[in-house]
Parts: sequence; C-alpha cells; structure tokens
Amino acid sequence: MLFHQANKSRRGGHNYRKKNTINLKLRLLFILLLFNFNMKAQNLSIDRVEPPFWWTGMKTNTVEVLIHGKNIADGILTLTHKGITLGEIKKVENPNYLFVTLKINPGVKPSKFSFTLQKGTESLLIPYELKERTPKENRNLGLGSEDFIYLLMPDRFANGDTNNDNVPEMKEPSIKRDTLYGRHGGDIQGVINHLDYIKSLGITAIWMNPEVENNQPKESYHGYAATDLYRIDRRLGTNTLYLKYAEKCHEMGLKVIKDVVFNHIGNEHWLYKDLPAKDWVHHFDNFTRTTYRSSALVDPYGSKADKDILSKGWFDKHMPDLNQKNPQLARYLIQNSIWWAEYAGIDCFRIDTYPYPDLEFMNAWVKAIQKEYPKIGIFGETWVDEVPVQAYFAQNNIKNLPFESKLPGVTDFQLYFAMTKAFNEEFGWMNGLMHLYYTLAQDYLYKDPMKNVVFLDNHDLGRFYSAIKEDDKKLKMALTFMLTTRGIPSLYYGTEILMKNDFDWGNHDKVREEFPGGWSDHKQDKFTEAGRSLRENEMFKYIQNLATWRKNNHTAHSGKLMQFIPENEVYVYFRYDDTQTIMIILNSSKEEKQLSTARFSERMQGYTTAKDAVSGELYTNLKEIKIPAGESLVLILQK
Ligand code: CA
Repeated sequence: MLFHQANKSRRGGHNYRKKNTINLKLRLLFILLLFNFNMKAQNLSIDRVEPPFWWTGMKTNTVEVLIHGKNIADGILTLTHKGITLGEIKKVENPNYLFVTLKINPGVKPSKFSFTLQKGTESLLIPYELKERTPKENRNLGLGSEDFIYLLMPDRFANGDTNNDNVPEMKEPSIKRDTLYGRHGGDIQGVINHLDYIKSLGITAIWMNPEVENNQPKESYHGYAATDLYRIDRRLGTNTLYLKYAEKCHEMGLKVIKDVVFNHIGNEHWLYKDLPAKDWVHHFDNFTRTTYRSSALVDPYGSKADKDILSKGWFDKHMPDLNQKNPQLARYLIQNSIWWAEYAGIDCFRIDTYPYPDLEFMNAWVKAIQKEYPKIGIFGETWVDEVPVQAYFAQNNIKNLPFESKLPGVTDFQLYFAMTKAFNEEFGWMNGLMHLYYTLAQDYLYKDPMKNVVFLDNHDLGRFYSAIKEDDKKLKMALTFMLTTRGIPSLYYGTEILMKNDFDWGNHDKVREEFPGGWSDHKQDKFTEAGRSLRENEMFKYIQNLATWRKNNHTAHSGKLMQFIPENEVYVYFRYDDTQTIMIILNSSKEEKQLSTARFSERMQGYTTAKDAVSGELYTNLKEIKIPAGESLVLILQK
C-alpha cells in the first residue's frame, strides 16, 4: 500500500506506441518476418503481444494472448501449428484488441510459430513462442516460518549501475536525489552487489517493493503505479537482470519474493490509456477515493455504498482502480503472475492492498497460482485495524462468513500495532507487553498463523527505532520477540544499522532513505563492519546471531508456541516440540527481575539447566532466573 498526496498526473504520450514494434525479444524476429512476408502491410501493425511468450507442459493447458494494434479486431486471425489449437477469439469494445485462447495439447514440443492476421488484402505474421520450462530444482520454493525476510526499496538501497540512472525516454528521465519523492538511482544490480551483506545478517528471503515499470511523470520510484506488468523498470534493470538476480539468490540459498498489485495500475499504464473495455476500470462521475476502511467489507451491518467505495474507489488520483470482475482482465492478471513465477522461478508473492480488489478474484488467483506451483508462498497486505478483520481476509476458522478467503498468510499489522504499544507503554492490565499476549490469544481465528508475516515497520510506517525513541535495549527486545514468536519475521532495510525517522505524511522519503554505502558519494559504507559505528555493529551482530541461530534451529522457527499471561512486567513464552523446549523471557521493567518459574512447570518440568541460545551462557538454577532490566533471554532448556 502506498499513500500519496493528491497527484494530478498529466497524461503524456506513451513511449511504447511505436508502429510495427512488438514487445522486447520478439522485435527482431518480427522485423525479419515483416521483410519476408509483409513489407507492404503498412496499415496493419501490432505493438503488444502479452504474455510475450508462454511455456509447454503447464498444468493449465490454455493461455489467453492479448494482441494490441490499431483496428485489428475486424481482422481474421489464424494459426496452423501442430499440437496447438486456436480456441476462442474474443473481441472487446475497443477495436484495437484481440484476445486469443491457445490450447496447448499435451506433448507439444517447445517451438516458435506465428499467428497470421489477415485484414482486407493485407496480412501480418505475429510471432509467438512456447518455451521449455526450466527444471523445478531450486525454484518456486515457497516461504515458511523458517524464513527471515529482508524488505528493501530498490530505488533507495544501492546504486549498482549508474548507466541506468538517467533514461531520457522515461517520463521521469533523471534521478533527483535532493528532490522530495525523486528517484535516487538504486537498482537491482545494487541489490545483487549486496546479497552477501543481506545473507550475512541471517536473512533467507528478499522482498523488494515492485520492480515492474512505473513510467509515471512523478513519484513513481516506489513501484506501486505500474505502467507495464511484463517489464522491469529500466531504472532498476532489465528482465534479464531480474532473472539473474533470482538465479543468484537461489544459488546463495535466498528466496525471492515478488511484490504484486492487483487493485490498481498507474494512470500512464498503456492499458489504461487505451482501455480494452470501459469496465476494466471502475469509473465514477467525480473522482472517488477509497475510504481505506476494509471493515466495511466485513461489517454485517455494512451498507453496499460503503463496500462499493472501499472496493471500487481509487487508491489515489493516479491509480485507476481495476475491475477484476472483467474476465479478460482477471485472466490477464493471473497469467502475468504465472509468467513471472515461471520466468524467474520466484518463491513467494506479496500481494499489495489485499482487501481492495474483488475478493472472489483474489481467491481465483490463489487457486490458479497454487495449481501451477503448489509450494509457492503467498501473503497479502492487510492494513486493517482489528484481528478479526485481518483474519477475515486470510484462511480462517470463522464459520458462516459470506466469503471464505483462500489467502494463506497476511502481513500481521495487528501484531505490529501490538509491538509498537508493547515496547512503549507502561505495563498494565491492558497495556505494555499485554498487547502481545492478547493479540496472539486471538490466533484461533487463523487457519495457520505461522504463515503470518511479523514486522516492526515497513516502507509505509515510521521506523520502529524512532517509535521506541532510539532505545537500543527496546529494539533488541522487540527483535527477540519478532524472531521467536510464531510466523515469518520481516526486517525493513536499515533497521540493523539503526536507521530512524517517523513516518511523515508530507515526506515519505524519511523512511525510505538511501542505505549508507549504497552510493559512491556516501561518506560512510555501512555495508561493512568498518563503516558502522560500535552501536550499529552491536545491533547488526545481535540480529545476525539470533537470526543465524533461529535459521538452524527447527524448534525456534517451527515449534509450537505456548504463552503465559504476562505478570509483573515480564512475559514468558515457549517454543517447543518433541526434540526441544526454548524459553523466551521479556522483561519490560526498568528493574532487574528475579523470575520464579514454578508457574511454568507445564513446559519446564524435567529440565534442570538451560543454555542461552546466542551467548551459550549456562543457567544452572532454573527455579529462579535473573533477567536484567529491559532485556530478554532466549534459553534452550536442558535435562
Ligand atoms: Ca542506477
């Protein structure tokens, strides 16, 4: 999700609408074919074919290909190729489109072929390709509680290639690092250059904000206003570079999370500028913004008007709201995700603004993705205000709901709210650490709370370090909680080096600052130990040690959770299974505590000593455990 100031984007000409060109790799072949067969087809041209190619051997044996070119709808499209049948050819309101279903029979060999488009005396060959699927090993691995996510904004992390900083044909043609919401020049090569750094922190998965093209006139560095869903933004790299990034991640044992948006596109998207049909986008007589209040969808007393505005209102002025009830659009979006999953072997999708698109469509999307990739990870952004509302949008245990979500996991905003309060407030009946307890006590609502993503902050929130007033001890305790409670922890880039700032509605850049060391003119390089201060190194190592231990300890990330009601400013919980019991103690008090453990015998019985999970320090008396003021302990119990 990305909130913006009202943005009156002007509508300029589109960069890609060049006659007689089609997408990317097909271009050369297409020109060759033109010379061979169609030199005089001057009135007939195609500028888009999407998906640009497909694969043989997919579980779904059809693909709907969008073909775009001026007034092509009354042309006659044919195809003769062994094993491939031309199914239905659909025309839509706009005569510049044809939607063609290809039926790919089992056993069809990967091949290149062409459609023939005949109109009057002219004909055009439209090349297409069915590629061979890449063997499954080390791809589409899924995401689970064993993982630890690193979230980064590619424009702001590291500039690995200054050649792509300025791209004159883009509507935002150059970097403007000193201008609010300007592009900074960070890119995928910058991330590739620092994979070692990320991995060294104990991270197992990288989530980048969307990398697809955002060719908007301004404020598009964040990636949530797409203008081409099949192309990596040229300021960030190329499709080939993204593939290289994904392969390199997989070689290094890092998973790839792709951030996708189905609710809206940018108003400079070529599809929006030449809509296939009016109903691809929700229209209002006057600009109508969503209320951002997803509760309207859950509310048994909710009005249709409120539900409609939530779902159909625009996320922002420059973000047209897509109507996924249109079957061509729905298929277009589903195929686009499958295309990226197959092309780059990505392991997980993070879905932006999950409550806002048509929810039946979202279920169909989940089903289609899981059909092709049963193991693939999926979590949705659920920036809502209550646990039951959040659970409504996930697979849940709530009976008799009007809608049954298939979404496996959510971004756990409720636990985020709880953590912000837990580590800031004085302890009380409903305050401080109690928030963690009460929030987790509501996990009975989720089918599998272990699939929820746990985070202290993200690109849309104030940095946690500032929220706790730059208190290192509190950050350590919060990190301990995040890395030992249930779910999939997610670290926002820079937390490890104590990056700070509150979220400012007038300046989002404050929480999306350049990572020091990512640009050649930075005075400090915090990717290196030598470039970090003592304090920063201490935090870096704290996370590194805990995350590395967690990664290698099955019980720590996948064991059952048992929590005890916090008392006397101390919260105790356990991760356990048949092999191990781990005791976690958080002391939010300003005083050292001497914890009597009799209350926890249910989990501690039979254990006589314990070892600190990170330092290895031995605890020989488990009846009374001393915890310093404001600190936490992670103890592996021993018999
Ligand atoms: Ca760059």
